[in-house]
Amino acid sequence: MPRVKKEEQPEKKPRKKTKPIQAVKGMKDILPPEQYVWDHILENSRKMCQDFGFGRIETPIVENTELFKRGVGQVTDIVEKEMFSFETQGGDKVSLRPEGTAGVVRSYIENGMSRWSQPVRLYYEGSMFRYDKPQQGRYREFHQFGAEVLGEDSPAIDAQVIYLAWKIFQKIGIKDVSVQINSIGCATCRAKYKKLLTDYYDMKINKLCVDCKRRLEKNPMRLLDCKEDKCMQVAAGAPQIIDNLCPDCHDHFKSVLEFLDELEISYVLNSNLVRGLDYYTKTVFEIWAEGDDSESRQTALGGGGRYDGLVGLLGGEETPAVGFSFGTERVAEKVMKMNLNLEPKITKDVFLVQLGDLARRKVMKVFDKLIDTDITVGESFGRGSIKSQLRTANKVRAKIALIVGQKEALDGTVIARDMKSGMQETVIVEDVVKEVRRMLRK
Ligand code: AMP
Repeated sequence: MPRVKKEEQPEKKPRKKTKPIQAVKGMKDILPPEQYVWDHILENSRKMCQDFGFGRIETPIVENTELFKRGVGQVTDIVEKEMFSFETQGGDKVSLRPEGTAGVVRSYIENGMSRWSQPVRLYYEGSMFRYDKPQQGRYREFHQFGAEVLGEDSPAIDAQVIYLAWKIFQKIGIKDVSVQINSIGCATCRAKYKKLLTDYYDMKINKLCVDCKRRLEKNPMRLLDCKEDKCMQVAAGAPQIIDNLCPDCHDHFKSVLEFLDELEISYVLNSNLVRGLDYYTKTVFEIWAEGDDSESRQTALGGGGRYDGLVGLLGGEETPAVGFSFGTERVAEKVMKMNLNLEPKITKDVFLVQLGDLARRKVMKVFDKLIDTDITVGESFGRGSIKSQLRTANKVRAKIALIVGQKEALDGTVIARDMKSGMQETVIVEDVVKEVRRMLRK
């Protein structure tokens, strides 16, 4: 090949760096160090639900948009502004689920669960999507863990669901939680109360934010939990639903509180708690972490309530129900701050050390023999000096290092080194499991 003179050589163009693609706004990865926390939260929550007699349900992440419009409510922030909705190639209007209850209720009806022994107790976990303004503790994809009891109207069940939520937080290690609770009544007492509330707010209309002015006509109760300062001031003087409950709702609520007293769960009555979803009736509650950090004061870990009208509204037989959910990210952020030391210490019985290409191939065979046994095995299949590999073996507190060099690779043997005493012996690959077991017993 003719040599090209230096000055004639083609100029090397600097490689153009492609712009990295980032996660969608408001969505995030959950990396291994966080997974220990997530496992801790979810394993304890699942276990507690199972102990309480709940069965796990998984529903699709995508549902017909109509389900949420009817279920969550047309005049709610979620349906008005926050849904990820799209049309499929076949023209179906669907949405990513913004919450879990509507899908569970759809499934209850569709799968004829009213014929199962009542009440039906279900728990679920998974991604939810809301097109909200992303900020600390508020994401566009987030995860919820939730539990629902369908087919029972007793206040004991409301209390039991709150008790379950409370127990889950205790088990996770968030001991200092408080329950805020209210009753928003049934359709009958709520209709009367809404009239009272509308009359009150009509007189104060000039003091309200734009959203509240708009909501006043269709959903006056939502004005009570508006977080705008000026609206909170008006809400403080508003008539309270608790004073306007019908006798049935009043007795139901009183009874729920008596059960909570019995269970020694501390609660705070919050007459402005109405929750952001239309389907609630009677008991509503939120669970807050106590603490003086600003986040604890601003965001609830979870919440729930009774929704006696939802099954009927979605086309099933009228069926009372109650449930709760918590946001896994918010709980994980809280747990992370508590430094519970959840990351397991990685220890291995055996560590594989190899030198050279042939040895690297042979050592894979040894790994294959060990991985199906109860012996835990670590390796560094990449390159690395024997010194650095032994250092890693020490880091994982391996009791035995199995070393394969060029000679051992050709002979079909490995050197088994007791990491504590430094004693070494040569064993044939076929006997490696037997010999390692013998050395571990020593
Ligand atoms: P909700 O379904 O609105 O009652 O919310 C129940 C729980 O889900 C809340 O208490 C939060 O812990 C969590 N949550 C709701 N919306 C979000 C969000 N956008 N990002 C993270 N967590 C959320």
